[in-house]
Amino acid sequence: MNENLPSADSRKSATDYDVIIVGGGPVGLVLGCLLKQQGVRLRVLERRAEALGHSAAIGITPPSLQILGKLGLAEEFIEKGVRVRDCVVHGQSGRVGCVSFREIPHVHRFILALPQVSTVGILQRELGSEFFEAGCEVSEVWQGADHCRVRAGGRELTARFVVGCDGIRSRVRELIGVGAPGHVYDCHFAMGDFLDRSGFGDEARLFFTETGAVESFPLPGGRRRWIVQTDAPVEHPSAGFISELIRERTGLEVSAADQLNESAFTPRRWDSERYSEGRVILCGDAAHGMSPIGGQGMNTGFADAEFLAAVLGQDDALARLPAYESYRRKAARVATRRAEWGMGFGTWRGRVRCLVRDAVLKHVLCRGPVSRRLGSFYAMLTIPYNTLERVPGRGLGS
Ligand SMILES: Cc1cc2nc3c(=O)[nH]c(=O)nc-3n(C[C@H](O)[C@H](O)[C@H](O)COP(=O)(O)OP(=O)(O)OC[C@H]3O[C@@H](n4cnc5c(N)ncnc54)[C@H](O)[C@@H]3O)c2cc1C
Repeated sequence: MNENLPSADSRKSATDYDVIIVGGGPVGLVLGCLLKQQGVRLRVLERRAEALGHSAAIGITPPSLQILGKLGLAEEFIEKGVRVRDCVVHGQSGRVGCVSFREIPHVHRFILALPQVSTVGILQRELGSEFFEAGCEVSEVWQGADHCRVRAGGRELTARFVVGCDGIRSRVRELIGVGAPGHVYDCHFAMGDFLDRSGFGDEARLFFTETGAVESFPLPGGRRRWIVQTDAPVEHPSAGFISELIRERTGLEVSAADQLNESAFTPRRWDSERYSEGRVILCGDAAHGMSPIGGQGMNTGFADAEFLAAVLGQDDALARLPAYESYRRKAARVATRRAEWGMGFGTWRGRVRCLVRDAVLKHVLCRGPVSRRLGSFYAMLTIPYNTLERVPGRGLGS
């Protein structure tokens, strides 16, 4: 008999749910879908009442597609997204190389570009309204020896476990008194999605220039995301601001009239002191965060969710939470360091540094065996424990 998640009848009298997930972002939804598949009684409580308005994450890596495949969703994701097989890299001196995903050792030899709005939409539909409650903000969490209580929307619910998937400013993390020390980088970006008249097709393009970086990724529906490095934080990029920086740095004309939205961000990293406190667990951005440059945060969260779903399905889930923390923290730290390195290198400015970067890209990174390894690197295939199959004993053995 499962000790922590007892059979349906006995559970009903003990708690309202086996697991309450706070936050229906991409990570909370993947966790919810995986737990639903195991027959766990669960509820995802999401503060947001409206559909997501903006799309932060767009890059979905092959290990994440593998996880989505376990939910029977990989094909639908792939159909709705754009398969990015090549990332063409430009330096100050023009094209310096290409990172290709065409030969990476994985069944999915591409990075999928799909806006987070669509990711969340598919996952929410898959989870189903029976398990998902929108417009429901969690304000309090308490726990006893064998269950937790949550206050949400003026009522109280009980569960054997509560998982905070409530993002960077996690209320759950705050309520259990866990800090998340980190660092705000001195590096700023503005981004916008545009109608795509670039002619780049399904290629990603990176431009590393003396005056700052420009990144460009295809999106479904004939759109393209452009991200530009800025000198200082820009609260609301004015009309034409992004187009002007693209033109200055790359010579490309990307019309402001084709711009569909805009936002700005200053990357940061953070790492929670603990990933759980008793029966309250942190997952995804609530547990850790990294620079979005490199596109790994959501993907790291998906792997957290996969691991945690397997743990919560075990008889002795509580005893296995240290393994969850240990494996997932290692993975997140590697991803965070890589994001930091990639962003640092890509945002070097000034003539001399730019010449050095061009030379390193041309003669080392984008050539021969290193360039082939770079494909696996950016596809997150070389992140430790990127799927459960790569965890010794699948995280479930001793
Ligand atoms: C510009 C940008 C680009 C990015 N690009 C990529 C990329 O290409 N690939 C990638 O892997 N990652 C990317 N990321 C990172 C990615 O967006 C995050 O890692 C991801 O959103 C984390 O998912 P999450 O579900 O953990 O948290 P969130 O997406 O923050 O979701 C948390 C959810 O919890 C809800 N919530 C919060 N508090 C409460 C509460 N008290 N009660 C109930 N609900 C609550 C929120 O409404 C929200 O829906 C990018 C980030 C940015 C900023």
